[in-house]
Amino acid sequence: MRPFVYERPASVSAAAAIASRFAAEGVPPTEAAAQFIAGGTNLADYMKLGVARPERLVDLNGLGDRALRQIEVGDDSIRFGALVRMGEAADTGEIKRLCPMLAESLKFAASGQIRNMASLAGNVLQRTRCEYFRETSWPCNKREPGSGCAAMEGFNRQHAVLGTSNACIATYHGDFAQALIALGATVEVEARRGMRKIAFSRLHRLPGDTPNVETELASDEVITAIEVPLGAWSRRSRYLKIRDRESYAFALASAAVALDMDGDTVSQARIALGGVATVPWRAKAAEEALSGKALDDEAAEAAAEAAFAEAKPREHNAFKVPLGKRTLVRALLETRDMKV
Ligand SMILES: Cc1cc2nc3c(=O)[nH]c(=O)nc-3n(C[C@H](O)[C@H](O)[C@H](O)COP(=O)(O)OP(=O)(O)OC[C@H]3O[C@@H](n4cnc5c(N)ncnc54)[C@H](O)[C@@H]3O)c2cc1C
Ligand code: SF4
Repeated sequence: MRPFVYERPASVSAAAAIASRFAAEGVPPTEAAAQFIAGGTNLADYMKLGVARPERLVDLNGLGDRALRQIEVGDDSIRFGALVRMGEAADTGEIKRLCPMLAESLKFAASGQIRNMASLAGNVLQRTRCEYFRETSWPCNKREPGSGCAAMEGFNRQHAVLGTSNACIATYHGDFAQALIALGATVEVEARRGMRKIAFSRLHRLPGDTPNVETELASDEVITAIEVPLGAWSRRSRYLKIRDRESYAFALASAAVALDMDGDTVSQARIALGGVATVPWRAKAAEEALSGKALDDEAAEAAAEAAFAEAKPREHNAFKVPLGKRTLVRALLETRDMKV
């Protein structure tokens, strides 16, 4: 690991000020000289591998604001402080009751130890596990813009089939983000120039020609909270994750489904797909296919077809298309049958 300076500011404004001092025009947070660290389960890993090379680490764990560590449950929303640990959110009874999908997306992620260490903001900003990104001897447009993409012709079983570009096909591996995008969450961020809110659906950027620019965040912006609106769909929601082994593995395919039902008919469906796309993926076409329909096997299968209509499989990941469809069909039918 390369040497770095470590700082532990006591306030969000002090953290943002340090990052702002070392920020450079057009440089994304993941390439900035000063980078924030929360649980460190993603960033420290990539520093050890030589993929992340910050000169300065700004530790957010000394920030004094209590709201950063709190979960606030209101009548029409849940607000998660950015430093709330994954394990705490997954185990909170009210979250499980009011919106099971949120708790399940966290419970089925990583291991108990990692969930106790990792923060919610760090979780949504985790970087891809693409093997060629992690191993610095390979060409990788995300790590070294313009160097090429070893995964295109390499072993791409883990890679994405949706949202890919000619520059990058890396999967976004997080689970919580799929629940957040399905539920229409908002991210609150703070910098020296003030605060702003970003719709979660706008936080992550498609790879396009610049896969190294992963989010809309500037390098001096600290995420302070994530707010999730509650609605008629929240209690009838679930997160189904399919992986190579039943524990401690990233999704090969997953589906976050929330349904507002009027009898057998879908009034509103909120659907996101994990393990198959380059960014958290809201499946709008599937939602539209279900709207106003009776949710039976046939309607679920039609929605799954719509969800994967634009899929672009590669040599080793073509299995993700039928697997993703089956995952969504099962998630839809199981969510329909929930007793709420
Ligand atoms: C073996 C293993 C298995 C895993 N399995 C899963 C899985 O199945 N599902 C899943 O979803 N995840 C999984 N993960 C990923 C894990 O959940 C993430 O590493 C973790 O959530 C990151 O949170 P953190 O607080 O440790 O982030 P850090 O490593 O501290 O930071 C991650 C990134 O976020 C930035 N950051 C952190 N906080 C803020 C903030 N408040 N504002 C702005 N930027 C910030 C950092 O600068 C960094 O770029 C796994 C990880 C490992 C190591
Ligand atoms: S898929 Fe993306 S992250 Fe992986 S090697 Fe290609 S450019 Fe790099």
